[in-house]
Amino acid sequence: MRREIMLKAIKDNPDKVWDMVVIGGGATGLGTAVESVTRGYETLLLEQADFSKGTSSRSTKLVHGGVRYLAQGDISLVLEALHERGLLRQNAPHLVKDLAFVIPIYEWWDGPFYAVGMKVYDMMAGKLGLGPSVRISKEETLKAIPNIKKKGLRGGVIYYDGQFDDSRLAINLAQTISKNNGTIINYIKATGLTKNELGLVDGLVAYDIENEKEYKIKAKVVINATGVFVDDILKMDDPKAKKTTRPSQGVHVVLDKEFLQSKSAIMIPKTDDGRVLFAVPWHNKVVVGTTDTLVDDASLEPRALEKEIEFILKTAGKYLSRAPRRKDVLSIFAGLRPLAAVEENDQSTKEISRNHKILVSLSGLVTITGGKWTTYRKMGEDAVDKALLVAGLEEKPSITKNMPIHGYVKNFDPDDHLHVYGSDRLAILQLIEENPDLGNKIHENLDFTKAEVVWAIKEEMARKVEDILARRVRALFLDARASIELAEKVAIIMAKELGKDKAWIRNEVKEYTALAEGYILKKPKN
Ligand SMILES: Cc1cc2nc3c(=O)[nH]c(=O)nc-3n(C[C@H](O)[C@H](O)[C@H](O)COP(=O)(O)OP(=O)(O)OC[C@H]3O[C@@H](n4cnc5c(N)ncnc54)[C@H](O)[C@@H]3O)c2cc1C
Repeated sequence: MRREIMLKAIKDNPDKVWDMVVIGGGATGLGTAVESVTRGYETLLLEQADFSKGTSSRSTKLVHGGVRYLAQGDISLVLEALHERGLLRQNAPHLVKDLAFVIPIYEWWDGPFYAVGMKVYDMMAGKLGLGPSVRISKEETLKAIPNIKKKGLRGGVIYYDGQFDDSRLAINLAQTISKNNGTIINYIKATGLTKNELGLVDGLVAYDIENEKEYKIKAKVVINATGVFVDDILKMDDPKAKKTTRPSQGVHVVLDKEFLQSKSAIMIPKTDDGRVLFAVPWHNKVVVGTTDTLVDDASLEPRALEKEIEFILKTAGKYLSRAPRRKDVLSIFAGLRPLAAVEENDQSTKEISRNHKILVSLSGLVTITGGKWTTYRKMGEDAVDKALLVAGLEEKPSITKNMPIHGYVKNFDPDDHLHVYGSDRLAILQLIEENPDLGNKIHENLDFTKAEVVWAIKEEMARKVEDILARRVRALFLDARASIELAEKVAIIMAKELGKDKAWIRNEVKEYTALAEGYILKKPKN
């Protein structure tokens, strides 16, 4: 998976007509391109930044049916997501693991209510269930989560869902596309659509940000999978197009594992204001979130609002015996969910369905929006089913339901931090064998080694320090301060591998530091 080689596919073949061109390299675009290429269609995917730079690296990291959607009565969404949860666990076992979630019970009537609700959740998963939910005593709840607040605790309910590493899955999907002869390019932005004499979309204009070069690309169908940016592409098609999407922001804070002291997660189905709160162990830290706030503008680097930070810390403090303070926050990240546009004065995002939608414009542009990471495969399948009709392509059946994703391995040691690389782990160990210095860790607070940096550059199309620290080894999300401290070391390794000079190193460190500062929780502004 080398960028230069991928780029050559469009550089050397200006007249090539691709079967499907996908705009957007998040979960939705990658899932769509996997679907298209594995059905045998000639596929190109363009991403304006790095793969999963948008929402797809900022999720709660759950592969789940969505207990909250069950509470809202969105049965079809939960059924679909539970089914997809099972398939993803089957097809990418190195990245998706079962996780026990404890719902602590403080009011007596909540006990039977959640116990019955979770039995329904188990039943809906059918054969793809991860384990039966059970009601547990106060003592068992404290054993499962030693740091849960004791006062008023009556017991709990344990249920099972899946957990994953979102941006690592995105990279594995990119590798799956590449392995199946698809073409995927990062740092190339779709800047316009081209149309034939009938007004039908027949390709697009793309700008290669690295080489500052424009390309005209021909396609039988173009698929807009740009998350909260779908309206920008719809406007390229029709400047008068109505707004379809409004971003809803979710925020997470990352804390030291001491705050949870458990391998299980906590799920609070109903906080004071009716929202859901998770505290989930992840890569030896704890991710706590999330909120849901409608915001006006889509951004690739959304920032947490002060009221969201306050809500998470205050609410977590109500359930954890040690309340987290601002200075305990190792990283804070925000993500934007593309929700169907609603009335201006409607601030309730909880009630808007998370089902995905596919729009086909009069010009033939196919847009896919909404959904969840968990359902990315089904979204891709549905988008390709529509797109092939628009393109007039021969119908070929989907094979992704039972198709292993790149990296697939079944037996691994979950305590070996290289396990997220799946089958690539051996190749990384080989790099270390050839050059033992690569086996050294770069920062005492983080597990990853120099070998993973080299691997990310050579095999995972990492182009910038941010690509490595944010989305290949997750340092930005796990400990933003530590990640700044090691940015220069990473830049030096990258410069050697990519043939860059000292000015490049300086600039990368400066850019990365400015970005990572936004993940550090500062004193509130008055
Ligand atoms: C806070 C939060 C928590 C969540 N937690 C979960 C969870 O635990 N489990 C779960 O299943 N789901 C979760 N979700 C939902 C899930 O993360 C999203 O549904 C999914 O990531 C959306 O993917 P996407 O590809 O549609 O959008 P994105 O990931 O945003 O991808 C769109 C991509 O398009 C690119 N792009 C935009 N314009 C252009 C252009 N002109 N040219 C080229 N590229 C372009 C962007 O750079 C971006 O990378 C969560 C969502 C949020 C907001």
